[in-house]
Amino acid sequence: MPSLGSIDEQSLAGALATGTHGSSLAHGLLSEAVVGLRLTRADGRTVDCAADDDDDGGELFRGALLSLGALGVVVALELRVVPAFRLRWHQTVDADRRLFAAWPRRLWSQAEFVRVWWFPYTRRAVVWRADKVADDDDDDDDDDDPPPGWCDRPLGFHLYRNLLLLAHWLPRLLPWIEWFVCGMQYGFGDGAATSATQPSARALLMNCLYAQTVNEWAVPLHRGPEALRRLGAWLARLPPGHPDYVEHGIPFSADGLWVHAPVEVRVAAPARPARPRPLLDPTVDDGPTLYLNATLYRPYGRDPPCRDRYYAAFEWLMRDLGGRPHWAKNFTAGREDLDAMYGPRLARFRRLRHALDPDGLFLGPWHREHLMPDEPPLPLEEVQTDCCPAPGGGLRVFGCVPGCDADDEDP
Ligand SMILES: Cc1cc2nc3c(=O)[nH]c(=O)nc-3n(C[C@H](O)[C@H](O)[C@H](O)COP(=O)(O)OP(=O)(O)OC[C@H]3O[C@@H](n4cnc5c(N)ncnc54)[C@H](O)[C@@H]3O)c2cc1C
Repeated sequence: MPSLGSIDEQSLAGALATGTHGSSLAHGLLSEAVVGLRLTRADGRTVDCAADDDDDGGELFRGALLSLGALGVVVALELRVVPAFRLRWHQTVDADRRLFAAWPRRLWSQAEFVRVWWFPYTRRAVVWRADKVADDDDDDDDDDDPPPGWCDRPLGFHLYRNLLLLAHWLPRLLPWIEWFVCGMQYGFGDGAATSATQPSARALLMNCLYAQTVNEWAVPLHRGPEALRRLGAWLARLPPGHPDYVEHGIPFSADGLWVHAPVEVRVAAPARPARPRPLLDPTVDDGPTLYLNATLYRPYGRDPPCRDRYYAAFEWLMRDLGGRPHWAKNFTAGREDLDAMYGPRLARFRRLRHALDPDGLFLGPWHREHLMPDEPPLPLEEVQTDCCPAPGGGLRVFGCVPGCDADDEDP
């Protein structure tokens, strides 16, 4: 693949269906690589569509590129892949002021792949940048994996998780945990650096450590420094006169609120006019996109106490910056919000969906809440009947299809 997100163990169809992306101003969503696909519809027919189809085929392609599973089952994909490549990468940790000073061009265009992890209490940022190694580069013949980071080794892995667990009851510890873990993993001194050369699939992936809740939004790239400064000022309750103080405008109190780090900061290239754009593409309409991902770990399956207020404030800020949520993440924006964010593109997706699956075979409660009009369920639509905590963490969700009688031998 020309680009990858942080993991490669999900299914290709699932990654595409949710708008998965990596971090590069040279690449957009992973679905950019799709040339054609085959979809099995609710009526059992299997149809092909391709990037160069006109009219109905073109609309089907634009819908199926990011379908949230609501159009049918993608059973085959034709991808524009690239020869396997290696990446030489460098990673530096520094004060976030330097990050903002280099924004946008010197920061995001310095290499083909660039990503950042931002630490809101210590106001530090790790910048990771990578370029392809040319085939004839004799200096870079061999891979040199970096030594495992502190969190990748057993002591760091377990200590960090247990510190996060302790912070469940003593959340005030979180700024100290951020300082300690960021220092152990990346270095305590500004300017600490690491480099390596690895195959792309090893270099681009990352160790996501523990179960986590993530809330990621796409906003215009040029609003990045403003977004992080406002979030940082709110989280740390900075007073006017503090060097990092800015007016955040967030209408929630941050008193007694302490959050996990980092915020993942990534980018995507603008949609290319020559290529069909998915109807539900969340990236910015007229320029490069910045993705901000507020990560909260769930040590031993526990949601941190800050979750609801942090995410309410984070989402408020993202909307204020003109953002749209990543479909695969834990956002609370509902149907009216999404209607306003997507306008006619969502209406086109609904029309296409209705034509392909009028009885709602591929619809469930999540689709009803976020994508579909506030109407009674369709005959084959699944509805949620119950939801309770699952043993070991998470939720157990029960559903049924009211239009099908469970005793019916041929439902
Ligand atoms: C640890 C972790 C790291 C991640 N990192 C990133 C990242 O770096 N960047 C990023 O953008 N995202 C990232 N994601 C999000 C991830 O790419 C999506 O959640 C993806 O959808 C997961 O794929 P899956 O195979 O598990 O799909 P599922 O969760 O099983 O399904 C996701 C959606 O795809 C639909 N679907 C699945 N298969 C088909 C099919 N054959 N036909 C039609 N619809 C289908 C389902 O109906 C559902 O709506 C990450 C997720 C995790 C858990």
